[in-house]
This record gives sequence, structure tokens and C-alpha cells, in this order.
Amino acid sequence: MKPIFLFSNLTLLFLTSCLLFSKPTEATPEQIPATATAKSPNDRSIYRDGLTPEYQPILDQLSYASMYDIKFNIADDLFHITGSETVIYTNAEDLELKEVKFRLFPNTLGGDMHVNEVFVNNEAIIPNYTLDDSLLTVPLKKPLQPQENTTLRMEFNITVPQSIDLNYGVLAYYGNVLALAHAYPMIAVYDDEGWNAEIPPQSGDVTYSDMSFFLVTVDAPKSLTLVGSGREISSQENGSRQTVSYEAGPVRDFYLAASPDYEVVSKEVNGITLRFYSSDKFQPGANSAIETAVKSLEVFGKRYTPYPYSELDFVTTPTYALGIEYPGMIAITEWIVDPDNSYLEATVAHEIAHQWFYNLVGNDQLDDPWLDESLSQYATLQYFSDTYGQTGALGFRLDLEGRWNSIGQAEIPVGLPVRDYTGSEYSGIVYGRGGLFFEALRDEMGNEKFDAFMKEYVKTNAWDIATPQKFQSQAELVCGCDLTDLFNDWIFP
Ligand SMILES: [Zn+2]
Repeated sequence: MKPIFLFSNLTLLFLTSCLLFSKPTEATPEQIPATATAKSPNDRSIYRDGLTPEYQPILDQLSYASMYDIKFNIADDLFHITGSETVIYTNAEDLELKEVKFRLFPNTLGGDMHVNEVFVNNEAIIPNYTLDDSLLTVPLKKPLQPQENTTLRMEFNITVPQSIDLNYGVLAYYGNVLALAHAYPMIAVYDDEGWNAEIPPQSGDVTYSDMSFFLVTVDAPKSLTLVGSGREISSQENGSRQTVSYEAGPVRDFYLAASPDYEVVSKEVNGITLRFYSSDKFQPGANSAIETAVKSLEVFGKRYTPYPYSELDFVTTPTYALGIEYPGMIAITEWIVDPDNSYLEATVAHEIAHQWFYNLVGNDQLDDPWLDESLSQYATLQYFSDTYGQTGALGFRLDLEGRWNSIGQAEIPVGLPVRDYTGSEYSGIVYGRGGLFFEALRDEMGNEKFDAFMKEYVKTNAWDIATPQKFQSQAELVCGCDLTDLFNDWIFP
């Protein structure tokens, strides 16, 4: 994510003007027979074309990845959603699990999400709710043994907020755009903390998730242009309604945006289709964003590893963040989609960097935001220097410094969880000082070893979850050096 208020004093002015934006002006749940989705967890052929050929072999791996089958029904009012979810969950831990936990993020994002019925292997189960109803715990009558899988099924409904006041408006129907972020029961990550869940702070990204596979069917008014993560696999119209299906996987989330105003600009490069959806008036900015996207994919592909999917979609939304990353999809706030807007190029490059740092290589975005945000800031600096040379990168480097300067270059550790920063510290440290840390690391390791390390880090953690400890130990392994002092000076408290 690139939060808007995190840029500089200049951005604060923009935020104020953003607040001047004026506000714009039920469906039945679909019954999903359990048998319709009880596919073999190994049947992944439908995901093949969503990956570039060199990544298709990953489909034969990730045997523990959850398999989601989700139906959304968007009511004619565009802010009431009903849905159902069937998910095959496999226990990837080396201990038995007595419960499975789901995040209901709309309940922390200003919306309202209710789960109506929960079935475990077709048997009705009474779940319980904690963390302000954002954590649903499904007890298992028979504990799930390592490598065993279970099928969970539930129905849900969501009232989408008609404002963008909370968490940058990632989940909202506002300004004629429906943005559905994290709008389904999402399985939490089980890690060394157990089921890892907290109420997300207002700054920062809200999810922490494992790689999963998604089949999603959306029933919605025909007037909407729908844009979903992954690849559209079918669409049909029925009177005033339409039904569109998507496959996405392996990915960490499924995102959907919809608007009657969306027009598309697209381009295909090296087997990857780039599409930018926005209202017509943003078309010059959309073209400019696509050009940046093409260059970013080339820079990051060379520096880290090629982009894995056959599609990358952009949508404009009225979000308070400059941009927000989703797997294979990026939301860009409307007001910067202009070829003359100085935020556009950096925001597009930053959000594309997240396709490597957040999606391909995952991390706990709430506990270790530097692993995705600071690293994406540094990757953006690399984008500018690889594209325009050192001089051309000066502006963005000054932006990193400016953010840190805005809090008086306070030596607050870069490696704190989001909840431990104030809003201005989060900007100054994670988006400013954190980006500069990677320069210090590069200087310590030497250019060649640093570049080799970054490739190695992405390769060994791809499709998995990285941690600060893994990051440091892999860097030390590549350089054959002790980086304890550097990490203690910059990262760790
Ligand atoms: Zn970001």
C-alpha cells in the first residue's frame, strides 16, 4: 500500500483537498450444493493459463494451499452482497488442529459481515466470534491431523460501507466504484504464534495470508464492469444481470472492483496482459501508468525473478491511499491518474514491487511491514535508477529522505509492528528510513553480493512466508559476513 498521508507535508495538503471530494449519490443468497465444489484438491488444471509457462510447475507443488470456491451476489443497490464459500483446508502444520480460524475483515473496515451457517464436512457447526467479530473460529469435532484436509462451507452477507473513512476505503461503495477488498471469510495463517490474528491498525495493510487457489463466481447487475484478481474464465448475461467467473492462484487474496464507468486500456508484453480500468477521463493517465508498468515488470523481472502471472490489472478507486496492492491487481487512487501527476509513476512502480514483496514472497504485513513496504520503497528506487540512471533516481531518493526528515530523522527501529508506530512514524520510518536501510545493506554487502542476495531471497521464499530472521540470515549467508550490528542499528528494537 502507499498511504496518501505518508508522503510529505505536500501530501498533507493534498489529503485536505481530498477530504473536499463530495460524496456520490437485497439479493438472495445462492445455495451451493456441497457436491458441486467437492473437487479433488489436486485438480489445478484450471489455474494453468493464469501463470506464465515458467511458473506453471508450481501447480504440482503447494499441496497444502487452501482451495476456495466463492460465490458473490451483488445486489442492485451495489452495497449489499450475499455469498457462499466452500474451502478445502489442509493442515500444513506438524500438530493436530482442533479448530480453523477465518478472518471477517469487513467487520473491521467499516462494513458489516455476517456468517449465516457453517458446515464442516457437511455437518452444521456453531462457530464463535472474537476480535470485534473479525475472527470466526470453527471448532472441529474431530481434530485435523497433519496433512489431512477438511471441507468447510458457509454462507455470508456483507453491507459495504458507503464511505472511505476507515483503512483508506479499501472496502467501499463510493464515487460509483465498488471496491471489495478481503470480502470473504479468509483463513488466518497458523504460524509460530498459533492462529495469527489481531484487529488491524488503521495505518497499513490488514491481511496476512498463505498462498491459496480461488474459483470465484460473481452475479451482479449487467451495467457494471467487473474486474477480479486472476483470470476471467466465463461470463454470461441473464436479463439485467450478469454472471462472471474467475480463477486465481496461487495468490494470497482475491480482490474485486466494479464500476459502471470503467473503460479499459490494455497492452500485452512478453505474454503478460496489462489492463487499466478507469473512467474515460483518466485515459491519458492510464496509458502513462501502463508504460510505467511495462518498465517496472522488466526491471523487477531482471532484478528478482520474472512476474509469475499472465495478467496484471489496474483499477482506479477513490481510496485515500495512493495505491493498494492485491495479487495480480492494483488499485490506484483516481486523482493521481494523470500523466503530469508526479505521484503516478512512483505509485505504480511501488505497487508493482509488491507483486514480489507481499504476494510472491509473503510476510506478516502487520508484524513486519518493513519486509513488504520498506522493500517496495527500495525496489521503487531501483526502478528509477535502472530506468533513468542515478540522477533520475534522485527525486525519489529525496522523497525517502523527506519522509524520514519529517519526523526529525528519529532513530526508531524499522522493524516494529504497524501497531507500535504513530501514523507519522509509520510513514517516516517504514516508508522513509526503511527504504534507506536497503541502501545501507547494499553498501555493507557490496553491489554484487547484494544483487545476488535479493535474487536468492526471492527464489527461496517464493510462494512462502519470509521473516526478518530469514532475511538477515540469508543476507549473511550470501555475503559471508556478520550483519548483526547493521540490523541492530536499523531494524531491530
Ligand atoms: Zn506499499
